[in-house]
Amino acid sequence: MRLQIAAANWKMNTTPEEGLKLFEHILNLLSTIPENRNSRVIIAPPFTHLHIISESIHAHSKNPRFSNLDISLAAQNCSSETKGAYTGEVSSEMIKNAGTRYVIIGHSERRSYFREDNNCLARKIDRALENNLIPIYCCGETRQERSEKIHFETVKNQVEEGLKHISGEQVKNMVIAYEPVWAIGTGVNATAQEAQEMHAFIRKVIAERCGKEIAAGLSILYGGSCNPKNAKELFECPDIDGGLVGGASLNANDFVEIVKQLKR
Ligand code: PEP
Repeated sequence: MRLQIAAANWKMNTTPEEGLKLFEHILNLLSTIPENRNSRVIIAPPFTHLHIISESIHAHSKNPRFSNLDISLAAQNCSSETKGAYTGEVSSEMIKNAGTRYVIIGHSERRSYFREDNNCLARKIDRALENNLIPIYCCGETRQERSEKIHFETVKNQVEEGLKHISGEQVKNMVIAYEPVWAIGTGVNATAQEAQEMHAFIRKVIAERCGKEIAAGLSILYGGSCNPKNAKELFECPDIDGGLVGGASLNANDFVEIVKQLKR
């Protein structure tokens, strides 16, 4: 079975102290649930928290009570540049050095508020892979694109253009998150049927580009108003390999309830 993932995107929420507290609360709750060898939990806090949460993961990994947990850290963004005079940017090398394993690239909030297009995102993916970070590449259509019935075309373009520089072998080291823009933070999730249909389509696009075997091994996460009530039905779908969770990941109990719904 493919790796099943529950990823928490905290966005621009919590101070470092609050974030560490939230992380430790999540960790304590996770330590009480039965082990799922096929799953991983990823926490994506703000940049300012990466170092302290990485240290906490390291310290807890030495405690037998937490030895069954598979937890990794993600950044929410990275620069498309390597280094130099780019005030305010954070490079993949810096992120990697903070103890981080994953990086979210192309979240719809980055695409819309910060005008990041597929070309810029393709360069970010390159920088991440050069530094051995695993990109979690986000794609998804707007409400209007769905109502105009161009949602498959939109997502296909995002996937093909975002991955245009990289080889099939490199796609093996990636995760894709399908996040319909109309479902993010709205309380209106895609139905399991809508999400499954798009996940199967994305897998087909990857198969055409990289071959069936690579597509079959790729974890594709669903994101958009995922919560403890809808996670089970979504995660049961054959092409949905877990979730990228925004709002509900700021509540330790809700997030861990979602983790419990990952396929076993
Ligand atoms: C997200 O921002 O990645 C997300 C899925 O948000 P929410 O769960 O709040 O819809």
